[in-house]
Amino acid sequence: MGIELTIVPFYSTIEEEPLEKVAEIMKRELTRYNQVTISNHVSSIEDEYSEIFTKNGPEFFRDMDGFMTVKVSGSPALFDYITAHYSTHALVFSDYPLVGLLKEIDAACSKDAPIAFVNIKRFRDDDSGTFIKRISALGLHELGHENGLQHHSTMVDNQFCPMFSPNLLAKPETWRKLEYVDSIGTVYCPKCKAEVGSSAL
Ligand SMILES: [Zn+2]
Ligand SMILES: [Zn+2]
Repeated sequence: MGIELTIVPFYSTIEEEPLEKVAEIMKRELTRYNQVTISNHVSSIEDEYSEIFTKNGPEFFRDMDGFMTVKVSGSPALFDYITAHYSTHALVFSDYPLVGLLKEIDAACSKDAPIAFVNIKRFRDDDSGTFIKRISALGLHELGHENGLQHHSTMVDNQFCPMFSPNLLAKPETWRKLEYVDSIGTVYCPKCKAEVGSSAL
């Protein structure tokens, strides 16, 4: 028995290589997942969720603990769709942002289901290693929340633990800067690692 993670490319241009690299990092860091798989690309929806992208103003709640992140209290169509189609924890990569009070949301986790979301478009870089590092760090942050981790600012090898969050009162323009993302590593600090390595959570 154990928990599984599915990485879901959802209306996304993300290629196989970065997906596989991200999967390796998730598996290495989130050892409570006994399996990490990559689903097929979802590029069309033909069920009752087909209007997902035309739906305006899904119910979002942005709390102030967020580093480029919101905890979603409502149930946007995307998260309903993922819950209906995947029975595992999910990390969703999309070229689309979620739409909320801030207009565009780069990364989020659901309060109601074990789903983490990252909008990959802003994190693209000519260097694929940089791209992979950015989306992995954000994925580890959001999945960290889903597995009970809180924000803090411990450094690991001159990079912040993925659970880093800047000044809570920083303006969105500040915390959406790439330099913040690039200051975050893809290795959990020992304290977080001990927690996400425990299947007893
Ligand atoms: Zn957070
Ligand atoms: Zn940590």
